[in-house]
Amino acid sequence: MPDKKDYYEVLGVDKGATEKDIKSAYRKLAMKYHPDRSDAPDAESRFKEISEAYAVLSDQEKRRQYDQFGHAGMGQYSQEDLFRGVDFEDLLRGFGFGGGRDSIFDAFFGGRRGQPARGRDLRYDLDLTLEQAATGLETTIEVPRAEICQTCSGSGAKPGTSPVSCPNCHGSGQITRAQNTPFGQMISSSPCPKCSGRGQTIPNPCQDCSGTGRVRRVRKIAVKIPGGVDSGQHLKLRGQGEAGPTVPGHMGAESGDLYVFVSVRPHPLFRRDDADLLHEASISMTQAALGDDIEVPTLQGRARLKVPAGTQSGSIFRMRGKGMPRLHGSGTGDLHVRLNVRIPTALTPRQKQLLEDLSAEMGETRPEQKSAERKAGERKAGDKSILDKIVDEVKGAVR
Ligand SMILES: [Zn+2]
Ligand SMILES: [Zn+2]
Repeated sequence: MPDKKDYYEVLGVDKGATEKDIKSAYRKLAMKYHPDRSDAPDAESRFKEISEAYAVLSDQEKRRQYDQFGHAGMGQYSQEDLFRGVDFEDLLRGFGFGGGRDSIFDAFFGGRRGQPARGRDLRYDLDLTLEQAATGLETTIEVPRAEICQTCSGSGAKPGTSPVSCPNCHGSGQITRAQNTPFGQMISSSPCPKCSGRGQTIPNPCQDCSGTGRVRRVRKIAVKIPGGVDSGQHLKLRGQGEAGPTVPGHMGAESGDLYVFVSVRPHPLFRRDDADLLHEASISMTQAALGDDIEVPTLQGRARLKVPAGTQSGSIFRMRGKGMPRLHGSGTGDLHVRLNVRIPTALTPRQKQLLEDLSAEMGETRPEQKSAERKAGERKAGDKSILDKIVDEVKGAVR
């Protein structure tokens, strides 16, 4: 493969790069060139290029052979063998890419050998309120995706014209060459550069898709989210991803799938724990001591909660069935209400007097009484210096 770039150059690392350097260089470039991320016309080919470089340099044995023999040393591997053992899904996790393993695989091969190519999977993130998550939701989302061009039915040729067999590769899409390498003669094949491996060229391209056979469209898709859904869960809409590639031999390929990932926004009044909800409410000191009947919010509207006399601050009361529905209709969770007792701060003179009376009634000793008793005790001791006595007098006056 004469025009192939050096793998180290492709990843922008030097020959002594560690496994970690290689991985981080790959991830950085993958962010930039992943076809889900980039609209650059060469994104897909760049992505393949960096992924192949990574597949080789991240494997000790393959890297050793590459260091010794260059690209010729790679001739013994089929493309699938070259990528074997690399978990791209794991490597690219957290980037928010639509593709799982299959679609990344497809990006390299236009489909696994022996199987028709398949369109890329797509990911759509849907934000819900807690109320929507409780009731479920039927909505329409707008998904930009590649679809088969209606004008040319995916052939890429202007209506009334047809693609012709590529003269360079005689329609095979592959250029095969024999090379003499230290391993003996090796047969390697690479995609035909003239037709990009399609085996056909299009003398009169369709104007709507510029000969690609696919067009990008924003498609409105109806989704039905069941009640009880939680963050991180997803819905799979089969066949609603991108249309399959339209390369000859793969016409009519299956479309990818669309994954709708749900994320439920935090709620100002409720904290969610699976199907249960927690609400924090506050009651006054007297409500706690005497008991009351209070109003609390629930997802279904306001409800009444009986506060028994003598409720301690932090007590949790359970309101059965006022939580979230469980997915697949297996009952409903509970609403837990934590009651926090509010201590009054700005007392009127009368309130203060009432509380002091209450305190006396409960047999408590107020601090001013305590200090008077202490002073009496100190006087009785009678062993203070004149100075100590004067200090005590002054303190007393200040109090
Ligand atoms: Zn077209
Ligand atoms: Zn060709």
